Amino acid sequence: MTPSNSDRFTCRRCGACCIGDGSVFLLPDDIRAIGRHLGISLQETVDRYTEFLILELRDEEQGYLYLPYLTLRKNEKNACLFLRDKLCSIEPAKPAQCRETPFVEEFFTDAEWRETLRRDCPALRAMPQGALPRPEDFPGAPLRERAYLDLLREHRYSLEEILGVTLPGPRLVSDTEQDTHSTR
Ligand code: SF4
Ligand code: SF4
Repeated sequence: MTPSNSDRFTCRRCGACCIGDGSVFLLPDDIRAIGRHLGISLQETVDRYTEFLILELRDEEQGYLYLPYLTLRKNEKNACLFLRDKLCSIEPAKPAQCRETPFVEEFFTDAEWRETLRRDCPALRAMPQGALPRPEDFPGAPLRERAYLDLLREHRYSLEEILGVTLPGPRLVSDTEQDTHSTR
């Protein structure tokens, strides 16, 4: 639902990427922006629109890592709660991950996921293979992820401390069972 992710990509606004198994991972600034946009408190934003999970990641050097994340909740049809008539109802405040879709990290690193994206996204299908962007065209995601990890370390891995909110008990998800890809 991003109108134009690059000068070679034009979103058809079909809404397909806001429905399905992918998850939108939220950064603290994403949550603050959504709350401001909706005119509600951070606590209410978190309570109504997010899910709290701990992602278990296998790291070859450090063993297991456990990282807290908030993701956007979905409805019973597996669609983002903010999707209305195929469009994003929080367009000016939509999360960074949504703004870059379909050129999320996995687009560049995971051939199987890239094919899934091409199958589901008509705008991507319409692009000639040679016109697809390169990872260096989208440097934002790795930088944001690094900044997020630094922020977590500074705050003892506590999202409650970072956001100043109370969170429910998290759902533990391993990287193999959680579809961390987003088609957004
Ligand atoms: S699936 Fe592709 S064309 Fe459809 S809204 Fe998402 S990015 Fe746009
Ligand atoms: S926030 Fe908007 S762009 Fe992102 S998944 Fe939800 S409806 Fe789609």
